[in-house]
Amino acid sequence: MSDLLKSVSYLSGVGSKTQQALAELGIFTIQDLLYYFPLRYEDLLLKSVDEASDQEKIVIKGVVASNPVLRRFGYKKTMLIVRILLDTETIPVTFFNQPWLQDKFLVGQEALVYGRWNEAKRSLTGIKVLNQTSFDQESLASIYPTNKKIHQTTLIKLIKQAVTKYANQALEIFDSSLRTKYHLLSESQIIKGMHFPTDAQQAQSARRSAKFRELFLYQARLAQLKQANAQDVSGLREEYNESYVEKFIQQFHFSLTLAQKRVLHEILQDMKSDQAMNRLLQGDVGSGKTAVAATTMFASITAGFQAVLMAPTEILAQQHYLKLKPLFAQFQLTTTLLTSSLTPAQRSQELSKIKQGRYNIIIGTQALFQDDVTYNHLGLVVIDEQHRFGVEQRRALRQKGSCPDVLLMTATPIPRTLAITYYGEMDLSIIDELPAGRKKVETYWLRFNKMDQVHRFLQIQLQQHAQVFVIAPLISESEKMDLHNAEDIYEQMKVEFPQKKISLLHGQMAADDKEIVMQDFQKQRIDILVSTTVVEVGVDVPNATVMVIYNADRFGLSQLHQLRGRVGRGRRQSYCILIADPHNKTAIERLRIMTQTNDGFKLAQKDLQLRGSGDVFGKKQSGVPNFKVADLLADEQILIAAHQEVEQLFAQDPQLHKHPELRAYLKSQKLQTLD
Ligand code: ADP
Ligand code: MG
Repeated sequence: MSDLLKSVSYLSGVGSKTQQALAELGIFTIQDLLYYFPLRYEDLLLKSVDEASDQEKIVIKGVVASNPVLRRFGYKKTMLIVRILLDTETIPVTFFNQPWLQDKFLVGQEALVYGRWNEAKRSLTGIKVLNQTSFDQESLASIYPTNKKIHQTTLIKLIKQAVTKYANQALEIFDSSLRTKYHLLSESQIIKGMHFPTDAQQAQSARRSAKFRELFLYQARLAQLKQANAQDVSGLREEYNESYVEKFIQQFHFSLTLAQKRVLHEILQDMKSDQAMNRLLQGDVGSGKTAVAATTMFASITAGFQAVLMAPTEILAQQHYLKLKPLFAQFQLTTTLLTSSLTPAQRSQELSKIKQGRYNIIIGTQALFQDDVTYNHLGLVVIDEQHRFGVEQRRALRQKGSCPDVLLMTATPIPRTLAITYYGEMDLSIIDELPAGRKKVETYWLRFNKMDQVHRFLQIQLQQHAQVFVIAPLISESEKMDLHNAEDIYEQMKVEFPQKKISLLHGQMAADDKEIVMQDFQKQRIDILVSTTVVEVGVDVPNATVMVIYNADRFGLSQLHQLRGRVGRGRRQSYCILIADPHNKTAIERLRIMTQTNDGFKLAQKDLQLRGSGDVFGKKQSGVPNFKVADLLADEQILIAAHQEVEQLFAQDPQLHKHPELRAYLKSQKLQTLD
């Protein structure tokens, strides 16, 4: 075994306690420690205390003026105080919980201390003691992420030890041509430069290489996963009937866009092959993903399988059911809707029919992958608006059949760079075109004092038989929040537009009642639908042309874009009215951008800039990488380059015969994730 894969306990000074503390930081092996990089560096700046500002971190140089005094207090807490004579005054320096420093101070000798200056008390809180040589060598102090169980200084000592002994053994991941091409440092240079840079320049170039390395290795792991998936021929070969599929496509009341045809072709290729399909279908709101999904499901059925469609909300599942059932019925196929609103008796009856294979298509919500659901001959799983589901849920559903094909659909437009990272092990199909004749939704932002104007506008639209969505952030009045609620707005709208049919919709209503309201709206028996965000995704009512959003500043950009996507689905001009009195700059920026663009990709990019990548994907997306050095936004160029290189490398050398170091590294990573 390589030394690098040995436990950290091989280092001197690592007992079981330290080992435990390191493990909590994710450090198990010597290799882990070598690559446990500092978060940032602080300049070690020699400064006279008169020039330092309050709380600034500085290095002072003086002569030890008194014997250091060690005080113990609390449980294992210590305070070491020593007086240092500077040019014109003597200042007290206090170190907390570093009792061993006591020996470093001898009266009359020179001392070099790095610490935080307190202007009022004219004292320094010591951070570390430097000696002249180490000060010359490291004008930068590395700051590591750590926990309460292990001190920075302990960590630094161990890292120093590991770097000295083992850095030269680090696996050289990049071959020399790649290093030359991207000006990358060698592994040991990266390690040394990241931990103990001698100047800012070196720190920077080490960091650049470390970023490339991190993104490259991450991509390589995804490429390996994808490769394993491709080699796995245990997937289903779905021999669908092409002429039937052609007939199915014919019965849409529109012809497919070129983009729809292209993605359909990509999907059907997957189905025919004996590899399991694992594909992400991405298309902006209203781009017509449902028609693609329906055709895919139909194809799977002609190959003799059951198909499943899962949606994140009951409203959306119901809508899919109502729209798709008649399409499939024309071909004598049976469809059922399985949601949590069934009575236990109904449910068990449905389950046995599903098990017997008496349904071809099963539509539903999460209820689809509960333990008691057994499918008959599951061939395809389509997951709509997949960004609402966690990785775990997707996995659970996939395990239902014997490796069914999986198609994920999302309207959350993911910038390409992020798709590479988050969905790298999946194949990607993109619908990059909207059906012809769509008009851009005109978007306006008004403040609440312009409500009269909003009402007048609605009056005019309603006279022209427009259907209106009104969205509120809350269902009912809340003491805590000063936000508008659906119930109040519903009452106001009834007063404002007495001749119009107005309905209320929210998540706490019974499923049956929700269904009735949605159907009435669908059938144009409702003029104004006052709702919460239960209609956020997927709802498709082409006659609705006005979307009004109260407290629009309370919603994120993607959410606003999704909500706006509920209108503009037909040929008539549609409008989106955002009502908000935003309190901060970011909110103002969001509202402005909404009025300026309808392009989901631009919005996603902007969203990312405003919120950072972690937030965009939310906590639900467990399994998203947490990069230590790289930043997906700032390092987009590096990511793209690393991605290209990985693709090329795996294309030319799929078994990594010519890249034994990379192969070894990936293997070592796999070992760790198995632990
Ligand atoms: P999304 O991609 O947001 O799920 P949908 O599948 O709900 O979009 O489609 C939006 C609307 O566009 C639906 O009313 C659908 O019938 C219609 N549609 C889909 N494809 C086309 C097309 N090729 N031409 C015209 N209308 C289409
Ligand atoms: Mg949809």
